[in-house]
Amino acid sequence: MQTLQYDEGEPRVGRIDQDARDRFDWNSTGKGETEMTQISSHGTSDPLEADKRGAIPSLEDIEQVLKSFELEERLRLGLGQTMSHWTDPNPKTFTKKERAHTTLLLGGLTMIQDYLVQGALNGLGYKVEAMSVPDYESLRFGKEFGNRGQCNPTYFTVGNLVKHLVHLRDKEHMATEDIIRDYVFLTAGACGPCRFGTYVTEYRKALRDAGFEGFRVMLFQQQGGLKQATGEESGLELGPKFFTQLLKAIMAGDVLNAMGYRIRPYEVNPGDTNRAIAQAREILHDSLERRKSVLLALRRCRKLFEAIEVDRLNPRPKVSIIGEFWAMTTEGDGNYKLQQFLEGEGAEVEIQLVTAWLLYQIWEHRYDTQRRIDMRGVDAGRKGLEGKDPVRKLQLLELAERVLSRWFYTYCWAIGLEGYKLPDMMEIATISHQYYHNELRGGEGHMEVGKLIQTVEKKKAHMVLSVKPFGCMPSSSVSDGIQSLVTGRFPEAIFCAIETTGDAAVNAYSRVQMMLFKAKQVARGELERLSQETGVSLDDARNRIARSRKLRSSLHLPHHVYAGTAANAFHEAVRA
Ligand code: SF4
Repeated sequence: MQTLQYDEGEPRVGRIDQDARDRFDWNSTGKGETEMTQISSHGTSDPLEADKRGAIPSLEDIEQVLKSFELEERLRLGLGQTMSHWTDPNPKTFTKKERAHTTLLLGGLTMIQDYLVQGALNGLGYKVEAMSVPDYESLRFGKEFGNRGQCNPTYFTVGNLVKHLVHLRDKEHMATEDIIRDYVFLTAGACGPCRFGTYVTEYRKALRDAGFEGFRVMLFQQQGGLKQATGEESGLELGPKFFTQLLKAIMAGDVLNAMGYRIRPYEVNPGDTNRAIAQAREILHDSLERRKSVLLALRRCRKLFEAIEVDRLNPRPKVSIIGEFWAMTTEGDGNYKLQQFLEGEGAEVEIQLVTAWLLYQIWEHRYDTQRRIDMRGVDAGRKGLEGKDPVRKLQLLELAERVLSRWFYTYCWAIGLEGYKLPDMMEIATISHQYYHNELRGGEGHMEVGKLIQTVEKKKAHMVLSVKPFGCMPSSSVSDGIQSLVTGRFPEAIFCAIETTGDAAVNAYSRVQMMLFKAKQVARGELERLSQETGVSLDDARNRIARSRKLRSSLHLPHHVYAGTAANAFHEAVRA
């Protein structure tokens, strides 16, 4: 049987050895023959020969030549052969018996939340250690032991774990085998579509290369609800008790963080808010660890914040930080400590809470269920609805959303976080849909777009700062691509997207400062205009506020009319 072989670009007639042909299954007849053999046996002519004779080759002949060429190339490139794929033999045994001597390492949320989660899980009988916030040293470890071409949060978080274990080994002189036996890392994961889906593999690769082969990385699977994704019979009991404690810690951390960012910019005595937060953190940690009422603990914290003296008539630009989840949440070098930097520059920072992220997870499931409902008869996929009751599923998801929101607002009430509103996920999905499809997932998905539009349209802040990690696929497309279109349509938006690489902090700071300058002017302008329009001076307004117990309370949130807190406080004072 003759076929074509290509040598230095010139086709020539050659022979494929039988063994090689038999290694293919894509067109094998199973009898050692290929489809090509069958075609040849029909007596079709070689198109190149036909061409030499000036005859026009038939389509069938051309197809045969192309097939032969493909076969040759597949052989040459070693494609199509049976091969075994690499899988990560992630060691995941963590039994109940091991629990007493095993420490769960965790991290990745805000510092307060990591600490409270530690307390909550201690309360359930786990030994837990919250790792420190990732810093430049973590990045160095991540770059040294991680794969090339990862996104910035991967380097920071993976490197942070390696850094911690190296510290235990080299500074605390623990034997490597003891570390591997006595520690487990607990983290969240997902199935993608971005690099988040490969985090566990990244952790494992870096740990192996750093000399911790066999170290266990356990995860909660984010997609499909919080459930254990790796691990067999586990020492981790991921039941309702576990998740209730976890949610309490996360939400208590959320309201505490929100209180801090709301009050600190206006405190009269610098340091008051941080002192209150430090005490509140301990109160909450203690109540979670001893499994006492978090509500009562929050009521105790409220008193600490109530005692802080504030002056809200100091006009500060309000900056909403949005962007990739980890990059906007971390408080360390992973985002150049942007929250701290902004406050240092005189801004009021509005952060995105983890509870909002949980609501987004629920929204995703509701949306997907609604979209798949018509296919339920044939949808037998892993997340398919065949044999399930989609209406009940939707009802449960709606219930979960309501319970979560209620729970959060109860915590707000207890600590005194007045008027805080969680984002309406349906609204965000609707307003962002025309710019970024709701089915595009990864990172924050359409949320980033929706939040920018909402902030501008509803005057929620003077400036929006989007934090996008270097190498982040979803965030790059949103911040670089879509948000340009959005800001084109909303030219009044003061939008600044910065890329976090772990170096070039000065560049990021100077870009933020430039935009912040504009935001400061808008904040001042708002207040000055109000003063001129009403004929009330700043001192007058200050006196009016001082006379009202409600208006001068640090817990009070002035009625929202303008983007700036100072303008809102002034507006209220004038109407009082
Ligand atoms: S959203 Fe971006 S930064 Fe975050 S894990 Fe995915 S690729 Fe990395």
